[in-house]
Amino acid sequence: MIDESRMRVKELKRRIRNVTLHTEDYYRIAYGYDATGIRGSCVGVAFPESECDLALIIKNANSLGIPIIPRGAGTGFSGGSVPVDGSLVVSTEKIRRVLSFDREMNEVEVESGIVNGKLQDYLKPFGFFYPPDPASYKVSTIGGNIAENAGGPRAYKYGVTRRYVRSLKWITSTGEYLESQQGGPTAFLIGSEGTLGFIYSARLAVFPIPKARKTFLLGASGDGDTMNLASDLLHSGFRPSVLEFIDSKTIRCVAEYLGILSILENRGDSSYLFLEVEGTEIETDEQQRHLNDYCECHGLTLTTAEKEEDREILWELRRSISPSLARRSITKVNEDIALPLGKLPEAVVRIHELARDKRLDCYIFGHCGDGNLHINIMTDRRNKKEMERAGEFVENLFLYVIAAGGTLSGEHGVGITKRPFLSLAFSPGELRLQEKIKGVIDPGSTFNPGKYFDNIMEEVG
Ligand SMILES: Cc1cc2nc3c(=O)[nH]c(=O)nc-3n(C[C@H](O)[C@H](O)[C@H](O)COP(=O)(O)OP(=O)(O)OC[C@H]3O[C@@H](n4cnc5c(N)ncnc54)[C@H](O)[C@@H]3O)c2cc1C
Repeated sequence: MIDESRMRVKELKRRIRNVTLHTEDYYRIAYGYDATGIRGSCVGVAFPESECDLALIIKNANSLGIPIIPRGAGTGFSGGSVPVDGSLVVSTEKIRRVLSFDREMNEVEVESGIVNGKLQDYLKPFGFFYPPDPASYKVSTIGGNIAENAGGPRAYKYGVTRRYVRSLKWITSTGEYLESQQGGPTAFLIGSEGTLGFIYSARLAVFPIPKARKTFLLGASGDGDTMNLASDLLHSGFRPSVLEFIDSKTIRCVAEYLGILSILENRGDSSYLFLEVEGTEIETDEQQRHLNDYCECHGLTLTTAEKEEDREILWELRRSISPSLARRSITKVNEDIALPLGKLPEAVVRIHELARDKRLDCYIFGHCGDGNLHINIMTDRRNKKEMERAGEFVENLFLYVIAAGGTLSGEHGVGITKRPFLSLAFSPGELRLQEKIKGVIDPGSTFNPGKYFDNIMEEVG
């Protein structure tokens, strides 16, 4: 079998000889995992430099029966870019140009391998920004963002990636190069986690940067109370563009990691809301006054950042949460459920209880403004018993979330990790329908086989 795979990749190399394709062990290992830490194995890693390279690779890999794993930066949290045996990883690292920028149309066209942060850097001097900015924006790619329909802190005001994609140029499993406008196949490709086609480039809507922004860290009390506070604050007329929740353990962890524990002012047992307002100077001043009055009235601690460098410190705190948690233990289980907003106060308390029942160390934070919470369980994969308990916790978590009207994933996708739980969220009819869509668009399962809904009926029966 291994010999057969080697023969196939050798033949592929011969057919696409002008495209870089590495088969050395160090490439196959380095590109064998994503941010979940799950390792897969591939026969090689290809680096196309144009849409023609991409089409050539896909057409030939398909005809040789080599599965393709599209890969951006590998920051995915559900195993989407982890290769399966005998597959070829196709990296977008060398397709990362800005193709055009049209100020009048508020539109930019980019190749899919461009890093989100690089796109923001490109747009800034023109006075524009691209709203979907996952906390991984400094490393994750636009292709990965589209394939995962990424959200992020600004999703509360601006919504997620889907809203910004005007058209896609993409390659089908037979190597056909298509341009699809909003709706139609584009609607399927966004959020399809690389299972339907390879996105070469995207035309994206961009916005003028607001005149003023102010960022705040609001120390509240217990986790459930903080969620209630968020809702009360909104009802009081406060209009943030970012509304994030950070529980007491998580805030300590990240403040320690950055060496800025003093920011918590001895309130290390509080959970926090991370907030931002934006608009004109007058609008942000008014929102700031409103928030100050509210905090004074309720005896809450508020840290305010107005200057760009102070805001950057608070944003660094927010964006460093995942890296700080990753340093907390050998491994961690990372789930990202979404719930109706009204369920959040009860949910944070219940989820901590579920973790305590299984004697697990649990950290919760996330985009509470759009109901999306990240649940992190610290584990050590060498401890079999603990991993079993973590597995039971995840199942209990999903059962609770679905019963409460929520979803398995807010933004990290299904990939490999959530695939076993799809039947909790979807009826057999819905799963069959998704499998049929895959069958029509990618009949030979060339893209990302065994992920998401590919062949899911075989598994769930
Ligand atoms: C510290 C940290 C913070 C994060 N914060 C957020 C957050 O706030 N919001 C959020 O939504 N996510 C977040 N994530 C998850 C992750 O960054 C996103 O899912 C991101 O969109 C993945 O982009 P990537 O370039 O790393 O893609 P990869 O991980 O390489 O791939 C992700 C999926 O997209 C597919 N894919 C990649 N490129 C293409 C392409 N060109 N065509 C077709 N399919 C493709 C892959 O096959 C895979 O299934 C975070 C991750 C980390 C590590």
